[in-house]
Amino acid sequence: KRKLDVSPAVGPRPEAEAADSGVQVVVRIRPPCSVEGEEAPDTCLCKTSANSVAIQGQGFTFDAIADAASTQEEFFTPVGPPLVENCLAGLNSSIFTYGQTGSGKTYTMWGPLSATSGDSMACERGLAPLVFEHLFSRIKQEQQKHKDKELIYSCTCAFLDIYNEQITDLLDPMQKNLQIREDVKTACVYVESLTKESVFAMKDVAQLLVKGLANRRTESTSANADSSRSHCVFTCVIKSESKNLEDGSNSIRMSRMNLVDLAGSERQKLTHAAGDRLKEAGNINRSLSALGNLINILAEISQSGKQRQHVPYRNSKLKFLLQESLGGNAMLAMICTVSPSESCKSETLSTLRFAQRAKAVKNRAVVNEEKEDDVNALHVRMKLLKDNIVDAA
Ligand code: ADP
Ligand code: MG
Repeated sequence: KRKLDVSPAVGPRPEAEAADSGVQVVVRIRPPCSVEGEEAPDTCLCKTSANSVAIQGQGFTFDAIADAASTQEEFFTPVGPPLVENCLAGLNSSIFTYGQTGSGKTYTMWGPLSATSGDSMACERGLAPLVFEHLFSRIKQEQQKHKDKELIYSCTCAFLDIYNEQITDLLDPMQKNLQIREDVKTACVYVESLTKESVFAMKDVAQLLVKGLANRRTESTSANADSSRSHCVFTCVIKSESKNLEDGSNSIRMSRMNLVDLAGSERQKLTHAAGDRLKEAGNINRSLSALGNLINILAEISQSGKQRQHVPYRNSKLKFLLQESLGGNAMLAMICTVSPSESCKSETLSTLRFAQRAKAVKNRAVVNEEKEDDVNALHVRMKLLKDNIVDAA
């Protein structure tokens, strides 16, 4: 089976206490589509090696480049399994898709809805379903492997959308304009009253994905909004309780997995926007440019080795919510999707520049594990964390 060649920037580091890890950056070039003229696509991009591309004579190197020929399964291989291993090891881990509208973010993250719900088009399934299928099979393996331990896993999911700086619960879209709160005791960030669902098998996750993505579509149609202008976040908190059958000791690990399909990165054309549309364009610009600025600051800090100071996280909902995924306690993979078309050249170049800055960021991920001292206190804290779908800080 063909595999994408990838350097192990975010490799499994099961026992790492703390690991300064780079952001794994993978660029995916989507196949030319009919809008751009299927017959003879004007290609502005050229894959020059397994991990580099050239555009207008300018070269860029990342962890891997997936070209138009790569299938969903091949694309999953370098990105999905390391993410799952990190989560099982108690490291917060996230995948982001970034790119202009139409470049393949949604296709890459979720795949076509029909492929998620049924198995007739199973080969088209995106990262999310493949990640969870892998997660459940790894959980089963772990439980069978350790004869000396009893391993109890629980997975709790939530699905939300940020549009115009407003959070909607995609599992219960009547819940709009939800607020982000910070737990004083744990210093953890969570979304108030967000629906949380336990999942036990792939079919549970598929149901949530189908429901949430359908709601995202309905919401954007009825609100005269556009799903390409919203950020869509699927979160799963994975908790594992390990009971050592020989010496009776216990430990709990917990991690948070975020799958984030970002709003289109294209520059907004403000000339014809008015009223709500104008506000929307402004907010999207703010949210995504805030993310870009944050990436710049973090890259600078990583390169200069200076302490993290005055990193602004609260000036956008997306950043506030995902601060742990961005330069904090987390492993991060950034999937940057681009169109091969000549007509998209300037947006493609801007996506590659963003990808290049993201590549310079170092996150510091720490295993979220507590050994048993006071079982009750531990359980109370873990319950609190899990209820809020928050990070174990
Ligand atoms: P975005 O979410 O970035 O706006 P989409 O994921 O909706 O873009 O992709 C735009 C169109 O291109 C969709 O019809 C999608 O099915 C198709 N597409 C995107 N990437 C691929 C790919 N790698 N292989 C086949 N079709 C793709
Ligand atoms: Mg999309």
